[in-house]
Amino acid sequence: MSISRRALLQTAAAVPFAKLMDAQEKDHIGYCIVGLGRISMGHFMPGCLDSKKSRVVALVSGHRDKAEKEAAKYSVTAGSLYSYEDFDKIAGNKEIDAVYIALPNSMHAEYSIRAAKAGKHVLCEKPMATSVADAQAMVNACRAAKTKLMIAYRCQYEAVNLEAIQIIQEGRLGTVQAMESANGFVERAGEWRLNKKLAGGGPLMDMGIYSLNACRYLTQEEPRYIEGFCSVIDHDGRFDEVEENVSFVIRFPSGIVASCSTTYGAQMDGYVRVHGSKGTLHLQPAFSYEGIKLTAHIQGEPDTEKTNKLNDPAQFTTMADYFSDCLINNQEPKTNGEEGLRDMKYIAEIYKSCGRQTF
Ligand code: NAD
Repeated sequence: MSISRRALLQTAAAVPFAKLMDAQEKDHIGYCIVGLGRISMGHFMPGCLDSKKSRVVALVSGHRDKAEKEAAKYSVTAGSLYSYEDFDKIAGNKEIDAVYIALPNSMHAEYSIRAAKAGKHVLCEKPMATSVADAQAMVNACRAAKTKLMIAYRCQYEAVNLEAIQIIQEGRLGTVQAMESANGFVERAGEWRLNKKLAGGGPLMDMGIYSLNACRYLTQEEPRYIEGFCSVIDHDGRFDEVEENVSFVIRFPSGIVASCSTTYGAQMDGYVRVHGSKGTLHLQPAFSYEGIKLTAHIQGEPDTEKTNKLNDPAQFTTMADYFSDCLINNQEPKTNGEEGLRDMKYIAEIYKSCGRQTF
């Protein structure tokens, strides 16, 4: 090892640089999974199994038994199993290039920042955080450590959503005037998603964020005005801390208006509808793990109908591989920390306007 490289490795500030160099020297990225729950065990980790570029190499869990069972499936060695308490030891594990954070929302900031300080890149689940301040702190920490931060907005990498963006941006719908979107499900009592401290809010944080993000990526505009209304209808204890329903409206700079709804009280087959002067585009399901379907009725064109035929966990393979490519090629991800931060600011605006009401 040359003196200059040894000196670099000895300074804390240089560790991230060394890690970045390591990632660029590899043909695959090693992920440390933080939180062994539904999304990580059921989708992201199986998605990595189908990939040559993205590998599960380490696990962080509070349950050693569960971690050992999962480790066996992914050939993760005992030395690469961590608890939340000894998480910071990942700094010394050269197999780990990046972490995938799949914890309750309010824990995203802490573990993203600790990962950045350990010199690891961060792929963090949505919503990025539970406050604008936490989201900004994540961006700052990754910037200071020179590690990359990507928010796992998988729909922005999904083929049918990408085709919808293309149809709109090519002007094939004519002048887009209005859009509607809804996304939600019935939440059970006892889930952390109903705990304000862990979730940060109700369905807006969890499901409404898909509609908000879709309105932004489909129009490629940033909201000029955004305002919401919240309500609780089922006073059965589930919604003592978070809202049950939110509707919000957006006005974009071009004049496009959007109206979106989200709930923890009804099963919604998440959709987006876009109305232009020459036609209408409909995505439904728009945000599911498989079967995303687009229909478009456009003047002067044959009707378009497209379904993503790839089975779950293909969207997770695509997303993980996109981030892996960014790390290998030293490119900034499309859905970086700033993209997540923008949604956090709009969500804060919606809650602020909801705060003027009582429910
Ligand atoms: P989950 O409850 O199934 O898993 C959460 C994990 O965090 C579990 O392993 C749990 O043990 C661990 N954990 C650690 N400390 C905890 C605490 N104090 N309380 C509760 N759990 C704790 O949740 P999930 O559905 O996998 O969601 C995890 C994250 O992924 C959330 O931020 C969610 O918004 C996001 N998510 C994203 C998608 C997507 O399609 N991108 C889908 C579902 C969930």
